[in-house]
Order: sequence, then C-alpha cells, then structure tokens
Amino acid sequence: MIIGTKPRVSPRFHFGVTPTAIVKEKVYVGFTVSDSPGALLREHYEVKAAKAKAVGGAICGVEQLTGTLPTKRAVQLYMACVDPHLTHGSEVMLDTNKSARKELESVQKGWLRRIMGVGKRSVVAALHTETGVEPIGCRRVLLAIGYLRHMATQCRPEQLVRRALVEAIELDWLGYNSWVSDLRSVVTDLPGQVQFPDHRKLLTAEAIEDLEGQVKKSMTEGIQREMDQSRKLILLHGRCEPDEEGNLVNHVPLKLRHYMLVCDARHRRALTRVLVSNHKYGVELLGYGKGAVERARRLCRFCRVEVETPEHIWLRCEAKPQLIVMRAEFTEELLAVATEGEREMIEALNSDDLRLMKYVVSMRSAVALVVGW
Ligand SMILES: [Zn+2]
Repeated sequence: MIIGTKPRVSPRFHFGVTPTAIVKEKVYVGFTVSDSPGALLREHYEVKAAKAKAVGGAICGVEQLTGTLPTKRAVQLYMACVDPHLTHGSEVMLDTNKSARKELESVQKGWLRRIMGVGKRSVVAALHTETGVEPIGCRRVLLAIGYLRHMATQCRPEQLVRRALVEAIELDWLGYNSWVSDLRSVVTDLPGQVQFPDHRKLLTAEAIEDLEGQVKKSMTEGIQREMDQSRKLILLHGRCEPDEEGNLVNHVPLKLRHYMLVCDARHRRALTRVLVSNHKYGVELLGYGKGAVERARRLCRFCRVEVETPEHIWLRCEAKPQLIVMRAEFTEELLAVATEGEREMIEALNSDDLRLMKYVVSMRSAVALVVGW
C-alpha cells in the first residue's frame, strides 16, 4: 500500500523473486488502513459500523427464540457486544470526520430504538436519558481522554507512547496537526464551551480531570437542553429520581429508568412510546407529513373538543363509555396500591391533567398497573 502522493510510475516490489501486489487497503493491528489521501482510517469506521450491525442482528436472532429481552439484559448485551465495535480505536482515531462518526451514531441510535421499542421519529435525546447509555460521540471522546490520562500519568518518560505524546504536544504547539490538535478539535466541537487545557498543563492529572469533567457536563447539559426544548417530551420535563428515602428530588439526566424494568415487554414498550411521544394519539399522528395540522386542531377522536393527548384520553375524556369504565377500574386499583401520601397527591392534582399524568407515571408503587393501563 502506498500512503501519500503516489509516484507517476508505479514501483514494483518483490519478496525474493515473487512479485508483490500494491493494495489499496490493509488490516494492520486490527485497524483497516486505506491509501485514501487524508482518510487513512475512514474505512475502519465503515468496517466497525458493519460489524456492530451484524452483531446486533445476531442478538435480534436470539430474541426470535427467547422473545423480547428485558431492557436491562438488552443494554448489557449492547455494552458487551455492540459497544466494543463502536468504540474500537477511539483512543487513537479521533472523530474529526463527522460523517464517519455519524455512521457509528446511526448504529447506536438504531440499537437503542430497538431496545426501547420506539420508531425513527423518536427524539434522539430520549434514547440516552431513558436507557442511561451515553451518546457514542461523547463516549469516544471520554475514552480518548482516559487514554491521555494513562499516557500522561501512568507511563514513564522513556516509554515510547509517552514520548509520542510529548512529540504530539510539541507539534501542536508549533502549529502542525497531531493527535493533540485532533483531540482539541473534537472536544471544542462538543455543545457548550469546553476549554482545552494549555500545552504546559496537558500532562497534569488536574488538567485532564478538569477536561473530562467539562466533557461530561457538556454531554449531560446538551441532552437535558434537548429534552427541555422538546414539546414532544413534555411528560418527561422536570422528572426526578428518588433519593435514599424514596422522595422524588434528584435530577438524573442519564439513567435506565424504573419503567424500563417492567417485565411485560408489550406493556413496557407501550408506556415508553407514550412518554417519548412516539405513540398513536392524535397530538402526535396529526402532526406528521404534508397534511399536518396545527397542534390546537389535533382534536380528540371521541369528544372532538380537546386536543387528543395521552393525558386527555387516560384521565379526562368522557365521550366514550368504555373508556369511563376502564378509567374507573384503573383509578380504583391505583388508589388501592398508593400510599396515603400518594393518594393525597393524586387528589390534589385532580384538576391538572398533565401534572397528574406525570405524577402517576412516576409512582414506583404503581408502575406495573400504569403500564397495563
Ligand atoms: Zn376527548
């Protein structure tokens, strides 16, 4: 393989007397290297994305024999079998090529949507907030920073990798491209304002820890911002996780949520689709395509008065007798499993459909009941 400018007349190489072909691509220590100018490792992204997809396909094959996997197991399998392909080489090949990174992101999004049972129209941020899986772009940057920490703090000065790092810092200082300039590029490309450390501090544990903290903050704040700005995710706005005493007070941006642990896959996925607005209620369906109508006109199919939201159908609409009967049964069962404090809260929120809906889906004591309803 010839890397860089190719000579006009192609040279001939021999092993002894046997002619050796000049190839355009070769696997070297696990990396697919190609001779494309400026894109030595571009092919490696495609190879790894294809392998991650193939492994995902094998897991789907298992699901056909076992039935839908519990979410926790599916996330574990993703981290064990798919994530290693998506993060392979992230320490040395930094994602300066956005289209290459998008290939990996596409595989991850497809997998998380499959785990959650939602469609392509679902908001991307929710794929991470509900499963606790970090976006692959940020995860790869964090792994690269971890490698920087290893080189800077655990390798001796005479070790080759440490010397290579020092050289990369010097090259960057002199204005040439190096691993350090690529790291700065991907870090400053993240949402928020991540400050890259000064060259003189780049080898210190404090600066690396600070950089890692900034990247994590940028990731969680970016996802939270996307959640807060999406009207589709209104049922998840202001959502809290319980503290040690069970009080819902902690804001946790990324976490495998409690309702994801419900065993019945059909019920679990139905509630997931409601929460991330990937359902078939009018407020969602009537907003798609060329015939999309404004939100205020996406009226309930039964009463034709209110906007057809999940909370309206679940808690308020009285235009369909069957719905009223089912709601009465649900309410009775809900109040039976609720604690005294929860019952008081439900009564206090009775006139506010949205807040009541958010409260009901957050009740740990009634999650099996809610997903069934
Ligand atoms: Zn209605």
